[in-house]
This record gives sequence, structure tokens and C-alpha cells, in this order.
Amino acid sequence: MLQSQTQLTPHPHDGTSAEPNAVNPIEQLTQQLGQQLLHALKRNSHTGIADALYEQMLKLATHDDKLKVELFRFVDVLPSLQSSTAVARHLSEYLTQPGVRLPAGAGSLMSLVQKLPFGDKLMSTAAHWGARLMSERFIAGSNLAETTRAVERLRERNMAFTLDLLGEAVISEREAELYQRKYLDMLRGMGDLQGRWPANPQIDTAPYGITLGATALPRVNVSVKLSSLYARFDPMAAEATSEAVKARLRPILALARQTGAQVHIDMEQYDYRSMTVRIFKEILMEPAYRDWEHIGIVVQAYLRDSEQDLRGLLAFAQQRGTPFTIRLVKGAYWDFETMLAAQRDYTAPVFAHKWETDANYEALTQFLILNSQFLHPAIASHNVRSVAHAQAISQQLGLPPRTVEYQVLFGMGESIGRALASQGERVRVYVPFGETLPGMAYLVRRLLENTSNDSFIRQVELNASAQAELLMKPAARRLTLDSGVKRQASSVSRPIFQNEPVVDFAIAANQQHMADALKQVRGEFGFAVPVVIGGRREESLNVVARENPSCKNEVVSRTHFATLEQAERALNLAERMFPIWRDVDVAARAHVLRRTADYFRQHRHEINAWQVYEAGKPWRDADGDVAEAIDFCDFYAAEMERLSPAQGARRKRNVPGEWNEYFYDARGPAVIIAPWNFPLAILTGMTVAALVAGNTVVIKPSEQTSRVAYFLMQALEAAGLPPGVAAFLPGEGESVGAALVADRRTAVIAFTGSKAVGLHILKEAADVKPGQREIKHVVAELGGKNAIIVDEDADLDEAASGTVHSTIGYSGQKCSAASRVIVIGSAYDTFCKRLKDTLESICIGDAQDPATTLGPLIDADSQRRILNYIEIGRQEGRLLAMQTPSPEQQAKGWFVPAAAFVDAPAEGRLCQEEIFGPVLAVLRANTLDEALKIADGTLYALTGGFYSRSPANIARVRREFRVGNLYINRKITGALVDRQPFGGGRMSGVGSKAGGPDYLHHFLLPRTTTELVMRRGFAPVEE
Ligand SMILES: Cc1cc2nc3c(=O)[nH]c(=O)nc-3n(C[C@H](O)[C@H](O)[C@H](O)COP(=O)(O)OP(=O)(O)OC[C@H]3O[C@@H](n4cnc5c(N)ncnc54)[C@H](O)[C@@H]3O)c2cc1C
Repeated sequence: MLQSQTQLTPHPHDGTSAEPNAVNPIEQLTQQLGQQLLHALKRNSHTGIADALYEQMLKLATHDDKLKVELFRFVDVLPSLQSSTAVARHLSEYLTQPGVRLPAGAGSLMSLVQKLPFGDKLMSTAAHWGARLMSERFIAGSNLAETTRAVERLRERNMAFTLDLLGEAVISEREAELYQRKYLDMLRGMGDLQGRWPANPQIDTAPYGITLGATALPRVNVSVKLSSLYARFDPMAAEATSEAVKARLRPILALARQTGAQVHIDMEQYDYRSMTVRIFKEILMEPAYRDWEHIGIVVQAYLRDSEQDLRGLLAFAQQRGTPFTIRLVKGAYWDFETMLAAQRDYTAPVFAHKWETDANYEALTQFLILNSQFLHPAIASHNVRSVAHAQAISQQLGLPPRTVEYQVLFGMGESIGRALASQGERVRVYVPFGETLPGMAYLVRRLLENTSNDSFIRQVELNASAQAELLMKPAARRLTLDSGVKRQASSVSRPIFQNEPVVDFAIAANQQHMADALKQVRGEFGFAVPVVIGGRREESLNVVARENPSCKNEVVSRTHFATLEQAERALNLAERMFPIWRDVDVAARAHVLRRTADYFRQHRHEINAWQVYEAGKPWRDADGDVAEAIDFCDFYAAEMERLSPAQGARRKRNVPGEWNEYFYDARGPAVIIAPWNFPLAILTGMTVAALVAGNTVVIKPSEQTSRVAYFLMQALEAAGLPPGVAAFLPGEGESVGAALVADRRTAVIAFTGSKAVGLHILKEAADVKPGQREIKHVVAELGGKNAIIVDEDADLDEAASGTVHSTIGYSGQKCSAASRVIVIGSAYDTFCKRLKDTLESICIGDAQDPATTLGPLIDADSQRRILNYIEIGRQEGRLLAMQTPSPEQQAKGWFVPAAAFVDAPAEGRLCQEEIFGPVLAVLRANTLDEALKIADGTLYALTGGFYSRSPANIARVRREFRVGNLYINRKITGALVDRQPFGGGRMSGVGSKAGGPDYLHHFLLPRTTTELVMRRGFAPVEE
């Protein structure tokens, strides 16, 4: 076997290894070939009317950055607008957004047109015409017949093609099956046609490698996105995803082989990268495909770890023994990856600077071409410098002409494609086709790329850069352009507190950690949870077993339920310790919180695993809970420091001779009564807020999740909290909880749970007991009956998927969960169809299985209650969609179906009562007014959602949908500490906003001191 090659020259990405402008033979050749290519490019540049119009439109759009964004947002919504009035309204809403600068005269022209009798029609026609002009440029046709004409024209111009069936991630299995069918139809259709195409050796053969002779290439080539083949494509559920995708991919590969076509696997966002590579490798090792070379995959050079990827693929190709194609691209999702990483507090997987991507592209190009006998190189770039560099390496190595394939995008890179073809190079054009709606994401990506200042194409089109600059070595560009840094810095401004990132289960190592933890914790089943008072572990006679919600025969923990006598002692101690803890420095108290957070970090997977077994939480829900607990510790520590500056820096309102100071003190012993649905986060949030404010605490966790709650006690002790400052009393709400609430010593009660219990606590707290010294302060977070409104112009895929996630996340057992969705006007029928498809594609299963999207409920009572609500749904409305657990699952754990009902009355039980399970009511509204009225028509005001692409409607809903947490164009669960402080009004709670800037005030008493410092007419000078 031939040895793989490594590098010809020092790694171009390593700025220290070579002077940026140092001349070496490859660089010299690159410059020379680049100039030739630029010259040929000019000769081959477009000249038609459509091109000129398109150019003018782009010039207008890019006249102002804000205008560009708003125009592209308009292009995105346009295909879903049903009337010319809607088109005109949206256009004018987008173009009148604050900060948008229209070209001179455009604003007045638009106002004038709007006033004309057929103004709307005129604007709509112009908008559709413009959008068609753009989409026809990048999308070859809406069906195979139109596309066939386009690819035949390409072949006539000596360019091969690869077909891309438009459509991004699918959200239902029905849709995934449809995609598979479309790929199969496409292969059959093209297979029948290819015989009529005259042979063209320039594009139909390749002299691969140095040692091999000419290889005949398939004339038909299709590009496939793996995520379109499986609705639950999830790298965390690696096994399930791999099996499902392979099952749908095999028939495509088999037909491609049979009809003599080539299949190329596209690369999508970073989250999918490892999964895509894994599936590619697995299927290529199957006997049916192991000796098949007409298949390929993509490597994205903007990824920091792409070199490792390429080396891995080379090793794989050598092991497999049959070469395959690598399409080397820079990567199409740079903005998305950068923003997503910032939102998740991850390091972005992509380079921050354009020159780094370019330099890495050159390094990978070199590696790829050197190893072309194993990995057939396809250089996909429109950048003359990148392409010329590939040509230079190929020539320097003396490879036979056309060893390297050059690939360009339809409508974007055709002039460079034509230039390369005219030089006799082997060129392939990536030809997307399909319906407009699924094509919008692709179109907008292309428009963004085409108008980005960093894009090579843009530089050429604008004639913005001199030839020398266009051909400059990437490392040299570092010194001239730094827009990457600017873009990053402006998009991410860092506050002092940072949210804890959730574990990225797309990474195999993290999946393994979690699997190990699940195994380890299984070995600890039966763990005895004690009562803790004054730092001592105590038992009780009342030991209650907790079963695994996914498998009720398994006892996971046994909890010593505290007695009333223990509650009495705990409160005595809390009262005694209060003055001591209250006077501990804020810095020391904050330190305890930060160390508590560290303990959670160290035990992250173990706590996650306990949540899976004890609370029945699927992996991501479990981990989100632990991340939030960490956030509460870090955030409240920082908040308390903010509220308690050093003495000299306190709030002062001094006047000559009179000094006034305002500051905070603790309130007294706090009783913490927490629910099971966020067994660590909510408990921790309420507890550490009380503690950092200087209060002592008695913790009463939920009966169902005592083991998880006990981690808090362990963490506080490990963090150095003095014994007696916190007591841990697992037990029953009705006995221990009630006694703690009623006790005269209790100064603060922090409760999260049901409306009934919360209101009872508020009443009880108002009843002053003999000997009571403080008016009890109650922090109560109660339930919700949350609604999502779906506007007529909403992206219905996003809306359906967001609604389903909001409904079924942790089996609907979140107070933020969606239980009503109100759909406006013409969107109703399509939305219902999408919702049904999406809901019926979810995977019900054991919480420990990473493929599970809907786990069990918390206990048998909940199961009975939810089954009853499903009955109520059937009586009050009509079943729209249902995903049902298997009879075995139902017998094994506390599983219930996920269900959506239509036609239930807005004032009925289904639409009014808090259900706390995966049950959704779908309501219809004619107007936004009506939708808001329905949304507002319950006792609660916790969370709400709005899917819309109308800036005016979004602004209105922001004002008028009066809930504690309103989410626009995203799911309504998953609030993050500090970014989305959580809590609502009306019967949803006292409006305390956990994780927000006002929360600690509930645990503090503000005090004022005034000192008259004047003595006989003189006073000290104020510092
Ligand atoms: C035939 C073909 C198939 C393709 N298939 C895929 C695919 O499967 N998956 C995929 O992701 N893309 C794919 N692409 C798209 C491709 O990634 C983009 O078209 C390409 O990145 C543009 O690069 P360029 O060399 O043509 O242009 P250039 O203008 O030289 O480069 C632009 C690219 O540089 C990168 N970049 C921009 N700003 C920065 C910054 N601040 N820091 C770091 N990097 C930056 C981005 O990747 C951007 O796309 C394909 C392209 C072609 C031609």
C-alpha cells in the first residue's frame, strides 16, 4: 500500500513558519495561475439583462447593512404570504424598521405607490418579480424537467453537475420518507436520460492519482443531506440516528450503483458533522459499498478541527481499500455557527478570521491533492486565489491534467466555472432544485454569502480590490483585514456573569461519560437519603422507597422522611444560627455559593444520571437542570456582591451635616419548599438566594426526588457552609412542609409548586402565630396555562416543531410548557398538518435511552391524571394527533401518550386547567386581536410564545401579550438565568423572577441609617 503524503511546504496556517510574502515555487505558480484565471474570469463574466438587474438589486440591498438584513428577512417570508396586501404590508414594515436607510427617493416612491388604487398589487408584483429573479439565479428549477434542461446546458458548456434536492432539516418521518422517495425518483429519472447525453471526456473521465489510469465518471451525480432522511437526526442518539439514516440511505446508494450514478454526502452544521462522518464510514464498510468509489463527503475548512477530520478520512480510505471523493469547501454556516456558539456559551468551532479559513483551506488542499490516490480531490471554491493554489499544487506535483475536480455553485460560481472549463479543467456545478418554500433557507444563505464583505465573489463583483490583493496569500491578508474580529466582538458583549454551558452530547466522549455515570449510579440503587440537622445525618422510622419512573419495579432510592420533631429542631437551630450567618461577610457567603457550583460541576454526570433514574428526565433535560443550578449559584453570588458594596460605596443621600445610607440585611430563617420537576435547579435557586442574603435555611425537597436534592446538601457542606446554617428535611408537604410554613420562627417561605398549595401557603403565612416576630414573606412561583400564538405569516415548520418541543419537553411537566396553541386564519390547516406529522414522529422511551424525546411521567398519580385529561380532550374536542407508548412501555413505567386536540372550547377544562403533561389544545383565531384575547383568557400569566414574521405584529404582541416570559419565534421553555429571568404574574406567582436582578430582594430587608453629624454648627467634611 502506498504511504500517504503530508506536506509540500510549511503549513500556511502557521504564521510563524513562513514570511507571509516569502516566495516559493508554489506561491509563484499560484500568482501566475491566479492572474490567468482572473483574466479568463473577466472574459467569461456574465453579460445578460438578468445579470445586470440582479447586480443592481444587490447593489441596492447592500447599500446599507440594516437594509440588507431586513430585505433578506422579507425574502424569507415572501413565499408564505397569501395576498398582495400582506406582501405590501410586510415590505413596508421591514423597510421602515428603525435604522434602515433606504436609497434616495425609495421611501417616497414606496409611500406614493401605497396610496395608488392598486398600490398593494403593484408592490406585490414587484416583490415577487425581484424574488424570482434572485431564486432563478441560484435555483435551477422547481422540478426535475426544468432542472434537466439546466444540466444539459451545463454539459454543453463542458461542465458536469451534481443535483441537490432543496429542503433543509425535516421535522417529520413522513417528510423524511418523502425525501427518500424524491432522491430515488431523481436517480431513476436521470438514469433514464443520461444515455442521450453525448460523451464528454473532459468531464466524464478522470486520471485519478499518479499510478492509476483514466477512470470513467458517472454522468449523474446527486448530493444528499443526511438530516433530510430522518426526522429525529440527533448526534446524541447516535445509534438510533445511524441505524435510521442508513436504512433510508441504502436504497439510494443501491439505486445509484445500479444506474451508474455518484452520490455525494453534503456537510451541514457542526452539530451534525461527527454523525455524518460516522454514518458515511459505517455504510462504506458494508460489503455492498466497500468497493464502490463513486461516493464522496465534504470537509469544511472553516472548522478548527477540519485537518484532523481529513486525516481521519484518509486513514479510513486506506483501511477501506477503495478511494472516494472529498469535496473541500470553506463552509456555508459561518454566521450560524458563530451565533449559536455565543448563545450556548461554547467556543465557536469555526475560525474567527476569514484569512485563517483561507489559510487552512490551502493547507487542506495541499494535503488532499498529495493523497489523491486515496481521496479524490474536489476543490469547491469561487475564490480565484484558493483555486489557483490548488492548480499550482497539482502542476507542481506533475499530476495528470484533470486529476483535481473543481466545483462551483449554480448561479454563483459559473463564471469561474466557465473560466476553468475553458482552461480544460474538470468542473462540476452544484445544481439545487425544488420548490420555493423549502428553498428559502438555501437562497438566503447564498444571498448572504454573495453580499458579505468578506466574500471573494463580492470583492470581484464590486471591483473593490486590486488584482494583487485578490491573489494575496491568506497569512498576508491577516495584516490588512480584520473584519472577523469586529463581527465577533460586536455580536457578543460579555456580562460579568456567564451561563454554564450545557453538556454537548453531540460529542461522543460526553455520551460516554453519561453512559458511564448511568452505569455507576445503577450500582448505587437503594441509596438511603438521610435527614441532616446541624451537620449530622439522622434517620427516621418513615423510610419511603422511590421507583424509577421509566421502570417502576426498580427502587432507586430510599428516603428517611423527616418527623415533626426533627422539623422543630431544625428550626430551633436555624433561629440560633441566624445572627451568626447574617453577619458573615458577603464575600464569604458568595464564596460558598461559587464552591457549591464547583461541586455540581465536578459531579455533573453523576447528578444527571440520578435525575434520569429518579425524576425520569431524558439526558438533555437532566443536564439543563444541573446547568441551571450552577447558574443560580454563580448569579446570586454576583448579585449579592452587587447589592452589598463595601461600606464606603453604599447608596448615600447625604446633605451637609446629615449622612444617610441605604443597605440590605437578612430577614431570618427561610423555609424552602421545592418541586420535583427541576429537582436540583429550583431547589438550589431558592436555597442559595436565601443563604447568600444572610438567611439560614430549612430545605424541604420534593418527596419524589430526594436523592437529587441531597446533592445540594452535600454540595453546600463541601463548599464550607457552617453546620446548622442549612438543614435538610426530606418529607411530606402535608406534614413537615405544613409545620415549617406555620411555625412562628419562619421569616421567609420560598415555594415553587401548584397554585392550590401556593395560595394555601400565602393564606397560612398571613396568620400570625403567638410569639411570631416577623411578617412572613412568601415567594411563590405557581402554575401556568401557557399559549403560543401562530401568526398567518409564521414559518410553520419552526412553529410546529417549537410547539411540540414546548409541549413534550420533560413530558410537559414544566410550568413553562405549552398547553395551548392559537393559530391565526389561513395558517390553521397547514399548521395542524405539520403539528400532527411532528408530534407523531416523536420517540417515546426510557429516560436513560438517548434517543428518547418523550420520557415517562413522575408517578402513577400523574399518569392517571393525564390519561383523564386525554379523555376530557376527547369529550370536549377532537383528537388531532397522538403518539402512544407501546403496551409494554405502559406496563413498565408511568408513560402516557402525547396528544393534541382541536375544536375544544376555549373556556372548557382542556383549555383552562393546568394539565402538567404532554397534552395540547389547538385553537383557531381569525385575527391577532382574537388570538390575544384567547391567550389572555385564563387565570395564569406565566409564559407565552409568538411565531410571526411581521415586525409590526411582533411589536404589538411584545406590548400586549402580558405574560412573565414571552418568547418570539422560539420554543417557550428553557429560560436561562440572567438572560431570561423566570416567573409570571396573576395566578402564576408573585412576580419574583428567579434568576433576575430583583430576586434577591425577596430575601432581604432594606434598611436606612441617618446620622446627624453636625455638632454646634460644624460637621466633618464628607469623604
Ligand atoms: C460545489 C459546492 C458544494 C458545496 N457544498 C457545501 C457543503 O456541503 N457544506 C458547506 O458547509 N458548504 C458547502 N459549500 C458552500 C461553501 O462552503 C461556500 O460556498 C464557500 O464557503 C464559499 O467559499 P469560497 O472559497 O467560494 O469564497 P470566499 O469568499 O473565499 O470564502 C467565504 C467563506 O469564508 C468563510 N468565512 C467568511 N468569513 C469568515 C470569518 N470571519 N472567519 C472565518 N471564516 C470566514 C466562510 O466559510 C465563507 O463561506 C459548497 C460550495 C460549493 C461550490
